[in-house]
Amino acid sequence: AAVKSEKIWMNGSLVPYADARVHVLTHALHYSTAVFEGLRCYETPKGPAIFRLDEHIERLFNSAKIYSMKVPYSPEEIKAAISETIKANKFTECYIRPLIYYGLGGMGLTVPEHGTEASVSCWEWKTGESAAGKTTGARCKVSSWTRIDGRAQPVKAKAASNYANAVLARMEAHRDGYDEAIMLNGAGKVAEASAANIFVKRRGAIITPPLSSGVLEGITRDSIMRIIRDDGGEVLEHDLDREDLYTADEIFMVGTAAEVKSVTELDGVNISSGSLGATTKRLQELYTKAVTGADERYLGWLTYL
Ligand code: PMP
Repeated sequence: AAVKSEKIWMNGSLVPYADARVHVLTHALHYSTAVFEGLRCYETPKGPAIFRLDEHIERLFNSAKIYSMKVPYSPEEIKAAISETIKANKFTECYIRPLIYYGLGGMGLTVPEHGTEASVSCWEWKTGESAAGKTTGARCKVSSWTRIDGRAQPVKAKAASNYANAVLARMEAHRDGYDEAIMLNGAGKVAEASAANIFVKRRGAIITPPLSSGVLEGITRDSIMRIIRDDGGEVLEHDLDREDLYTADEIFMVGTAAEVKSVTELDGVNISSGSLGATTKRLQELYTKAVTGADERYLGWLTYL
């Protein structure tokens, strides 16, 4: 879908899409001094609802705190801005992008004293869009880029600076003819995809790399772990080696944008038979029900507009 809307919320008010501009001397543009979130709103039987709003806003403010950014709005104000922006655009299903960044007020590494700015954008995104990996599996490659290390940059912050690494990995994967990259951490253990957490089914167990492997603390990762357990399954958090991927029964990636995507090929090697696995399919169904309000066990994850 096009990244387009009628209105964007900037520093407290809704402005027309074409007017949502920043100055070329915006600090974040030069030094990546920005943190952000990615959320989704889905149509449900009781109207449009934002999935796990509280958790996303908590992570946004934690990301800002890690970087000592003073957010000029409270979590409640940002939540209200999100609802207001979606309603102003009359969207029922969309992606939502809150962004906190250092704006104008000084060049050089010292951050501008009064320069923190906030915006909330959204664009239409229907359920079932981004089909690659849903009905057909994604073809992935292990990236030649190592996932950034927490000793150099806080990987638990959803910070713009972390995405230079992710963009390099994604670009390399596309250039080499793959759909997506899977990155290893500095110790050579499996970390995550460029913008999604990874799960593996191997010898009947479902395994995901632990948070200590340097992955983003994904909210979908958390939702999927809960869904697996509620469904009677077991999920373990432990380190995975690259070779565990090639010999997996199933691999899937999870994230707000990705939802649940199957990986059926890695570095030219078929994962199991090379088609969508039964566990992946089941989790795709259960996740779709959760986000669209069709499973009452998860209604607590929804915030209605
Ligand atoms: N890892 C990275 C690097 C990401 O950018 C994302 C997307 N936010 C995820 C994992 C998945 O996180 P979430 O489920 O919270 O969207």
